[in-house]
Amino acid sequence: MKKSLLVLGGGESGTGAALLAKKEGYQVLVSDHGPIAEKYKTMLQEANVPYEENGHSFETFFEFSEVVKSPGIPDQLEFIQAFGQQGIPVISEIEFAARFTDAFIIAITGSNGKTTTTNLVYQILKHTGKDVALVGNVGQSFAWTVAFEPAQIYALELSSFQLDGIKQFRPNISILLNISPDHLDRYAYDFDAYADSKLQITMNQTKGDVFIYNGDDTKTLERLNQVDPLVEHIAVNRALVEQMGQSFEWTNRALSGRHNQFNASCVIQAMLTLGLSPAAIQQGLDAFVNDPHRLELFLESQGIEFVNDSKATNVDAVFFALDAAEKPVIWIVGGVDKGNDYKTIDALVQDKVEAIIALGTDNSAIMNYFENKVPLIASTDSLESMLEKIQTWAKPGMQVLLSPACASFDLFRNYMHRGEAFKEIILKNYTK
Ligand code: ADP
Repeated sequence: MKKSLLVLGGGESGTGAALLAKKEGYQVLVSDHGPIAEKYKTMLQEANVPYEENGHSFETFFEFSEVVKSPGIPDQLEFIQAFGQQGIPVISEIEFAARFTDAFIIAITGSNGKTTTTNLVYQILKHTGKDVALVGNVGQSFAWTVAFEPAQIYALELSSFQLDGIKQFRPNISILLNISPDHLDRYAYDFDAYADSKLQITMNQTKGDVFIYNGDDTKTLERLNQVDPLVEHIAVNRALVEQMGQSFEWTNRALSGRHNQFNASCVIQAMLTLGLSPAAIQQGLDAFVNDPHRLELFLESQGIEFVNDSKATNVDAVFFALDAAEKPVIWIVGGVDKGNDYKTIDALVQDKVEAIIALGTDNSAIMNYFENKVPLIASTDSLESMLEKIQTWAKPGMQVLLSPACASFDLFRNYMHRGEAFKEIILKNYTK
């Protein structure tokens, strides 16, 4: 019987899985309940892969021998459950792609810092001339890369949704950065279920593999018994970060802040186990360039620092942004709140925040929580009204920090759009 694969979701990962499956001789169908972007339709057409968009034709679904589901589609949907009941495996694109490569895999997950850390792994290895590819949540899909641009090493960023569809996937090195509340809406507000899903990164690891984790993270520590004792465990805790800080230099501004030094320490451990010399690692650290929207200092004007941290979509990321600030902060916060608890940043806000500008269509949670906690606070619902407040309050020696703690969908398309729009209005008004 011909192998067949149903791919649900025609985005980056679905298209990648479909093209890899086609190349490997599968009969494939891509099905999306919404529209498929032109770019992906063209790729599918060129490879002769049939697809349907704006709705599923359920009749044929249960004839497939396997399903690859996009990480965006919840497991709880009735028809997804039905596959399981009929004995049809539902897996992720990562699981599927991993079957077709023997390359060395460094997989990175966590609530915060995944992209930064994955980029750092990639850039250091690239710098030393290794044949490495940057894949997963960041960059091209793992499946597409395995099919068309295979590498000897993969730096692979994994979200918890991608980990949920894993059965046999086994990275050589796994890095679990931290587990803090985020996306709890997808896990029925069950923090433990979310934490368990992160641990799946190490589920199939065994002798010869390495697990690098946050030695100060209680949710991770509680779950260490889920990891095969034969796996080499490397705990990166505060003491180790300090030690790394003596052996290596963090002078590159892209590594500023305690969180980035932690991320870098995890990467250094991975690189050392790969046999890279400290000098080569240091060169990679020095040359590192992070993606935008992550504590991005994009302008210094009139004595004021402007920082775009639009990617900070939860309170934990804001914690580190405030922690890294060395000047009084005008903090711009708000958007779509995923049930934020701001208690963990109370002390930092008191210590560092001069003024809060809430930016969103509904700022009530922020206004209620922070009223009387900071000298100045204002509610705004547009970039223009935000700018007015900045112009009134920001003085030389201050930092204006967009670190929203929330998703961006109320006023913007996504966090990148929010970051770009913020930078644009500031650059327009603060550069001569
Ligand atoms: P992710 O890919 O997990 O969303 P990013 O590297 O894109 O992570 O960073 C997202 C946000 O989290 C940024 O605001 C960044 O400054 C912050 N951040 C980066 N590393 C950490 C960390 N180890 N702990 C907490 N926050 C972090």
